[in-house]
Parts: sequence; C-alpha cells; structure tokens
Amino acid sequence: MSCVFCRIARGDIPAEIIAREDGAVAFLDVAPLADGHVLVVPEAHVARLEDLAPDDARTLFQTVVRLSGPVRDGLGADGTTIGVNNGAATGQTVPHVHVHIVPRRHGDGAGSIHSIFPGGSRRDVAEVGDAIRAELALG
Ligand code: 5GP
Ligand code: ZN
Repeated sequence: MSCVFCRIARGDIPAEIIAREDGAVAFLDVAPLADGHVLVVPEAHVARLEDLAPDDARTLFQTVVRLSGPVRDGLGADGTTIGVNNGAATGQTVPHVHVHIVPRRHGDGAGSIHSIFPGGSRRDVAEVGDAIRAELALG
C-alpha cells in the first residue's frame, strides 16, 4: 500500500500526530497553509467522502468537531476554515479522504470558501433541486 495517509495512519512514516481515535487520525499538514493546519483522515482507505462507511464518517467528523476549537485556540486564532477537496476535479491530490482544518485570523488575507469559485449558479434552482432529489431517491 503506497498511500501516504494510510502509512501515516499506521505509523509507518512520521507525522506530527495531534489525535488518534479508533478509526481516525489527525496530524499536521507537511506544507501548512497556516500554522496549525491539521488534516483529519479515516483509517480506512477511501478516496471520496461518499464512499465512507457510516461509522467511519461519524468518527471522522466527531474528530473534526472535537479538534476545531483546540486548533483555533492553540494557535490563538479567530476561527477555522474547514474543508474537503472531494475528488480529483476539486484539486484533491491525495486520494484518501482528509478534512483540512486551517486556523484563520481576521485580516489574514485569505478568502472564504466562496472565493474559490469564479461565478454563481446558472440553472433554475427548482430544476437543480429536482436533479439532486432524483439522485437521492435512487438511494
Ligand atoms: P489535498 O490537496 O489533496 O486536499 O491536500 C493534501 C494535503 O496533504 C496537502 O495539504 C499536503 O501538504 C498534505 N500532504 C501531502 N503529503 C503529506 C505527507 O506526507 N505528510 C503530511 N503531514 N501531509 C502531507
Ligand atoms: Zn490511504
């Protein structure tokens, strides 16, 4: 298994570990966007969020919730940006689910999640709602 996050989760390669849960591991990003940039990963090797088993998803997000305050306060920050690049089209470079927690400060010059996108939506919202609900109904 050559996946770098699997290897970190197993302890085969070093990382600055922040927390270990039964099913998830949190560690510092090797190329942080800000001091205290944490990655939370499931132990299970799964590329996309929607492929996570329910228990793994629960543990992953419980860990994110538990860490978000300490990551902010430990770095004396004002907030956190929490995000997931979910699929190669989004810029995901490591195909093992990981949640970024990045400490933020007022006036730090970084944008909000909205700043990633160049434009707004174009299709009728009811039509878009129908399209998603139709997929949801397929289960
Ligand atoms: P992505 O772009 O896939 O959402 O983010 C992957 C993140 O993993 C990047 O922020 C990158 O710096 C981090 N990363 C990649 N390889 C390693 C590694 O070997 N160790 C650690 N700690 N972080 C890594
Ligand atoms: Zn993996």
